[in-house]
Parts: sequence; C-alpha cells; structure tokens
Amino acid sequence: MKIVHQLLSGWGRVNPRDSRVCYPTTPFEIEKVLGGTNEPIIARGLGRSYGDAAVSDAITVNLSTFNFFQSWNPQHGIIRVSAGTSLKQILDFVVPQGWFLPVTPGTQYCTVGGCVAADVHGKNHHIQGSFSKFVHSFDLMCSGGSLLTCNLQTNSDLFFATLGGMGLTGVIVWVELQLTPVQTIYITERKRRIQSWEECIEAFQEDNPNEPYAVAWVDATTSIGKGELWYGRHTNEDELPKLVKPYPKKKSKEPWTVPNLFQNSLVNRRTITLFNRLKYLNSPKRSQTTVVPYWEFFYPLDRLLEWNRLYGKSGFIQYQYVVPFETNPTFHRQIVELCLQNGQIPSLAVFKRMGKGIQEELPTYDHSLKYLPTLSFPKQGWTLALDFPMTNGLLPLLSRLDQMVIEAGGRVYLAKDVRLSPETFRKMYPELSIWKNVCRKYNDEIRFQSSLSKRLQIC
Ligand SMILES: Cc1cc2nc3c(=O)[nH]c(=O)nc-3n(C[C@H](O)[C@H](O)[C@H](O)COP(=O)(O)OP(=O)(O)OC[C@H]3O[C@@H](n4cnc5c(N)ncnc54)[C@H](O)[C@@H]3O)c2cc1C
Repeated sequence: MKIVHQLLSGWGRVNPRDSRVCYPTTPFEIEKVLGGTNEPIIARGLGRSYGDAAVSDAITVNLSTFNFFQSWNPQHGIIRVSAGTSLKQILDFVVPQGWFLPVTPGTQYCTVGGCVAADVHGKNHHIQGSFSKFVHSFDLMCSGGSLLTCNLQTNSDLFFATLGGMGLTGVIVWVELQLTPVQTIYITERKRRIQSWEECIEAFQEDNPNEPYAVAWVDATTSIGKGELWYGRHTNEDELPKLVKPYPKKKSKEPWTVPNLFQNSLVNRRTITLFNRLKYLNSPKRSQTTVVPYWEFFYPLDRLLEWNRLYGKSGFIQYQYVVPFETNPTFHRQIVELCLQNGQIPSLAVFKRMGKGIQEELPTYDHSLKYLPTLSFPKQGWTLALDFPMTNGLLPLLSRLDQMVIEAGGRVYLAKDVRLSPETFRKMYPELSIWKNVCRKYNDEIRFQSSLSKRLQIC
C-alpha cells in the first residue's frame, strides 16, 4: 500500500504536522500497516475533529476510503458498516427507507469510526445520550493485529475505553449501529429569540419530550447572552401538506466550496460583529415554526464546504466546555466577558444542555467496575462551544478559562482541543489511570499515538 507524505492538521488548521499517510481499503491492509512498522500509528476519519486528535508526525491510517456497508436489517434498523463510512453515506441510504441516526453531530462529513472514538453528541444529548449508546458492537484492531469484537458482554472494558478513547486503544474496523425510525425527511423546527443567559437556560429547562432536539446560538460579541434557540422534532407523515411527499427525490443543493486562497483570516472583529448582529436581527421576535429538510436543521455549516479556510493560514480554535447544571448562569457570561476584555471575540457560540454521560450511566450497565474506563466528554450540565480566530493572546486566555472550568467541576472536549496542558487534562479527566490500564491490557506497546496524546502525555 502506498504511503504518502502530507501536511495534516485538524479542522481548525492549527499546528499542522508532516505525516506519512496510508489509505487502506480492507481490514487486511490495516493489519499490514500495523505489522509493517514499529512506529506509532493513529487512525483518522474525515479530519473533522478541530484539534490534533487525528494528527501524527509518524503514521496516520486514513480510513475514509474504507467505507462499505456490510449488512443492513431494514426491519429493525440495524446497520453494520466499515469504520470509514461517513454519516452522509448512511443517511443517504437509510432515510428513504424510514430510518435516521439517533445521534448526529453538526456535520454529516465525519466517519462512524470518528464518531465512536470521540463519542460525539448531538442536539438531543439531554434525552438520547451520545453516539455510543447506539453502538451495539465494534471490531477493533489492537497492536498485535488481532481483531477483537467489543460490546457490553465481550471485552466490555475495551468497549468503554474505546468510546471517547480518541483512537488510542486501536483501529476501529467495523461498527454495528442501531438507527431510529422516522416517517419523513423533515424536521419541524421552532425558533425563538432569547435575550439573556438566564432566559436561555430557563427555556432549555422547559422540558418538551416531543421536541427532542434543542440548541442555542448565542451572540458572543457581547456578554449579555442574546441569541436564538432552535427546537426540533421529526415530522410525521400526516403533518405534511397533501402534495408534499415524505421522501421526495430532490436532494440538498450542491454545496459551495471555499477556495484555498486566503492567507489572512476573513473572520475578524468587523466581520464577526456584522455576522452576529445580522443573525440576531434575522431571528424571529415571536416563536416561529417551520418544516425543513433534515440537512437544513442538523447541518447548516455543511452548506459551505471547507469553510475552515475562511480563517486563513493561522486557522482557528474551538473551545468547548461542559459544567454541571448547578453552575450559576453568570458563569457563561463571565467566560464571554473575560474573552472580550482580553480582545478575543468569539466568531460563533453554540450552547446546549447535556444529559447523563457514560460514567453517570454506570448503574444502568451490568458491570462490576466502580468507574468506567472512558475519556468520553459528555456529562450532565451546560456546554458552550466558542470559535476564535487564532491570534496572539488567545492561548493564555484559554488557559485562564481552563482554570474557571476546572473550578466549576467541568471539562473541555478532546475532539476540539489543540492546546490543553497535561496537568489541566488530568484534572478534567480523573478516570485517566483506569483508562490507561485497560489500554495497556490489550496493547503490548504504546502503539497508538497522536499529537494530542503526546501533548497531553496520555500514553
Ligand atoms: C462543523 C462541525 C460540527 C461538529 N459538531 C459536533 C457536535 O455537534 N458534537 C460533537 O460531538 N462533535 C462535533 N464535531 C466534531 C466531530 O463530530 C468529531 O470530531 C468527529 O470525531 C469527527 O469525525 P471524523 O471522522 O472526521 O474523525 P477524525 O477527526 O478524523 O478523528 C477524530 C478522532 O477519532 C479517531 N478515529 C477516527 N477514525 C477512527 C477509527 N476508525 N478507529 C479508531 N479511531 C478513529 C481519531 O484518531 C481521532 O482521535 C463537529 C465538527 C465539525 C467540523
């Protein structure tokens, strides 16, 4: 198999590394890569993690060409795919047959392997939990090249360690997923304006199980907490006007691609302020309900491919934290205030409510462990994701935010991280030592390493 030299980074395009990359298309080829070298290896999907989790200065196994369906049960909505299969491939195939992904992140251009390894969450985390809850089982290739089946019954410690394990337990090869039934391709979306952090939090707490999706965009060019909240639910067939088909042939419009032309960031103080003001002005003053195709609700950013290029050569960082529900609502205001005082203006801010994480679900699993060996990010509380163009002064500011997040009992999402220190990481992820024991039990050597794992001294 050909190995090519590539300059690799995460979606934020910060700290690119010269890597040797191979593109296996069969499990046998993955095994050959593992057996053919003693060098550290990391798996990569579609590179949508923002930081350095899928980056290595040694060997990167890019699985995006290993994208096949192995089996499909349309009666029960169970699909088995290779790890490089993208969410878009799955949706294009299953939605016309009345099935949907029970959990999806904000882009469909990511792989199933990447979603398991980051244990991604969606707009329904407070109700459905994360991606891992719908993983029946997966096959993982560990350092010796053996393929181990992992699920709640078999190799269950390795199962948990791989969910959110950021590719450090091995290469995920096959994944079996449970899908959820839907009656149409549509989402009934309800939008409402919000005027403050307090109002936003209150609105999230008005639990409505009929609207399982909820997410807020916040204008973080001021610390007030003004913004817009979107609720959503899958539209039933009998709610559609007579002439509208539940599964029309028409697909989403071909997205535009941002060319790779910009040295300097187009995202700066002036454009950020303009974008946020216009977005707020455009939000409905009174609650407004519309019916939209699922891709408009779940994947607004996918309308513009390679939008990360707008940030120019220096790239951008997304800082996403979760803090417990008990945290005072003023916490988020203070975070944004500190950013603005330090001259760092977030270009985009997304706020969500999170339900129980894997660790908090422990009593529901039939398991003897006191803690589950997982590095999965979600836990009960509020999560805020802030995008910043990479400029001087950003990194010291983010280190100050880390301290505030730790004091509040929260943590930062590894799939978005490119700058945490080993010390702060350990405080945020206290399960690290039991996770490491499991990782070592199945891997004779520290084989799976990324720029992230080296920086955080995980392995
Ligand atoms: C626009 C946008 C919106 C997003 N919204 C959300 C969101 O709402 N919620 C959320 O949780 N995340 C979100 N993300 C982050 C994204 O969903 C995750 O980072 C996801 O892991 C990306 O998948 P990928 O295939 O691109 O993986 P990569 O970025 O290539 O890799 C991510 C991690 O998975 C590991 N990995 C990948 N494939 C394998 C494999 N086969 N075996 C073992 N390890 C593997 C890598 O080593 C790495 O550690 C968003 C990203 C973007 C760009």
